[in-house]
Amino acid sequence: MALLEVDHLDIRFPLRHDEIRAVRDVSFALERGERLGIVGESGAGKSVLAFSLLKLLSRPGYIAGGRVRFEGRELTTLSDRQLRRIRGNRVAMIFQDPLTTLNPALTIGRQMIESLKAHRRISERRARAIALHKLRQVQVSSPEQRFEQYPHQLSGGLCQRVVIAIALLLDPDIIIADEPTTALDVTIQAEIIALLTQLCDKHNVGLIVISHELGVIGQLTQRLLVMYAGRIVEQGPTREIINDAQHPYTQGLINALPQMTLPRQRLAQIPGNMPSLARVPDGCAFHPRCRYRFTPQGRLRQACVERVPEAVSSGGSRVACHWVRELITTVPIEEEAI
Ligand code: SF4
Repeated sequence: MALLEVDHLDIRFPLRHDEIRAVRDVSFALERGERLGIVGESGAGKSVLAFSLLKLLSRPGYIAGGRVRFEGRELTTLSDRQLRRIRGNRVAMIFQDPLTTLNPALTIGRQMIESLKAHRRISERRARAIALHKLRQVQVSSPEQRFEQYPHQLSGGLCQRVVIAIALLLDPDIIIADEPTTALDVTIQAEIIALLTQLCDKHNVGLIVISHELGVIGQLTQRLLVMYAGRIVEQGPTREIINDAQHPYTQGLINALPQMTLPRQRLAQIPGNMPSLARVPDGCAFHPRCRYRFTPQGRLRQACVERVPEAVSSGGSRVACHWVRELITTVPIEEEAI
């Protein structure tokens, strides 16, 4: 049994006369100690998906269908009180901007001690010892000194290390990290990626990383979900997807990575924009941006505009594209310089 199982999850936000379907028919599993990435441009529904796993959706969002099971236990039907016990205790979250996560009015040490005391009956002395131990685990320099400091006295990178230490305080089984390196500069990003990888492997913690940066996800994870307009369009081992992406959207994301282009070559961007989740096109949601909606002879492929593609196996991945097998064998993938 997988540690976390998500089956046909559907998340909606009601409007006055309609509903936004933010996540559609999403299924995946996370094994203990596995590092899973969810990637896609802004508005793909990846953060909504991550927050919904612990029923942390902002109102009026709601789970309209599907299941989320943690160690076989259904989470979507638990009360807020039961869920609070799982949140923090068994599943921890790391957010994008460490400075907004930390309380500016409390020292680092006080925040860590309060977090521990909120979930465990524990003496102040024992809580302090655990907190200092976690700061050492995340390689915070001079932990005793940092313990007495306020968040604004630390750099962005140090603050994110403290946030990771807080996430680890209760020895969780899963960490969900929403854009954990976006607010950091490139050197610090690499350090945080290395740290998260090492900690999760060492402590057998499952990691779900949400990012719009395929470069970050590619380094951090073993398995990848690519989301577009609320659906998973490709899912498989990260290495295989990076080396041999099957879905035209994933290929576009990879072609837009700076390291995938030759020096002086312009970055290849996907034309157009992610549709609003309130106005997702019929058929394959990617079709207005996909050059393969036309045959090499220039004829529109009707299935692309009429039917939502089912996921099929291709390469090492599951891919939601009607034509993926034909595209790979018959159509050369060129970069479209913009
Ligand atoms: Fe492109 Fe059609 Fe495949 Fe969608 S189904 S990705 S529009 S070729």
